[in-house]
Amino acid sequence: MTIARSPDPNVAAIEMVAVNKWFGAFHALRDIDLTVANGEKIVICGPSGSGKSTLIRCVNRLETHQGGKIFVEGKELTSDLRRVERIRRDVGMVFQHFNLFPHLTILENCVLAPVRVLKLAPEKARSIALHYLSKVHIPEQADKYPGQLSGGQQQRVAIARALCMNPKIMLFDEPTSSLDPEMVKEVLDVMAELAREGMTMICVTHEMGFARRAADRIIFMDAGAIVEVSRPAEFFDAPKHQRTRRFLDKIL
Ligand code: ADP
Ligand code: MG
Repeated sequence: MTIARSPDPNVAAIEMVAVNKWFGAFHALRDIDLTVANGEKIVICGPSGSGKSTLIRCVNRLETHQGGKIFVEGKELTSDLRRVERIRRDVGMVFQHFNLFPHLTILENCVLAPVRVLKLAPEKARSIALHYLSKVHIPEQADKYPGQLSGGQQQRVAIARALCMNPKIMLFDEPTSSLDPEMVKEVLDVMAELAREGMTMICVTHEMGFARRAADRIIFMDAGAIVEVSRPAEFFDAPKHQRTRRFLDKIL
């Protein structure tokens, strides 16, 4: 896939420094330190409730952190809404439930934000949308409605829709968890292709085949903290922590 912008190689894509987050009295993120380089692919795994979604949602401020600092492309995430808007343009997100607008066609789903937010001319936005729908292998679905597509196709639309905003970073939150097994591969293949083409990615997933194949580093989270960060070979073959080993024993 064409990645039009080449980010500054000297600035980390994402930098989280001592990030903490509470939901009321519940400590959801504990002293998270994480630097993601441009072009790097990170997979995050860990038990349900360990804070994986919360961590990535803090990166585009769908959740606000209460301690520490988060920088995206060198810009600090603060409560300044204009800055949040700027940062969100650079960060695409794909959710477990595709979150497509059901009353809009596939093409309309893909052109909405580029026209409204980036102020692209509708013709230009349509041609970009068709380009990315081709990249995710479903250009022929452009005029259908989400409800007429399979789950795997809808998730590929969600990926194309995010790419239409020309993001520098893509966040995936369990993108294949609600799919029927036979549709998982078609989504992972699109993600792997994006990874090969140099997109900076953080993927929360338990698809360990994908993690082994596509990740530069794998993060294991437990109880709101990062327990382990390793390269895939080490993560699977010689995890540093007992808790990682126990988790892998359960899911592999
Ligand atoms: P994961 O994605 O690893 O399953 P989450 O990041 O979704 O975990 O959640 C981490 C913890 O924070 C869970 O215990 C969850 O119940 C809690 N939590 C998440 N969102 C909220 C919220 N909006 N309000 C209160 N608690 C929340
Ligand atoms: Mg989650």
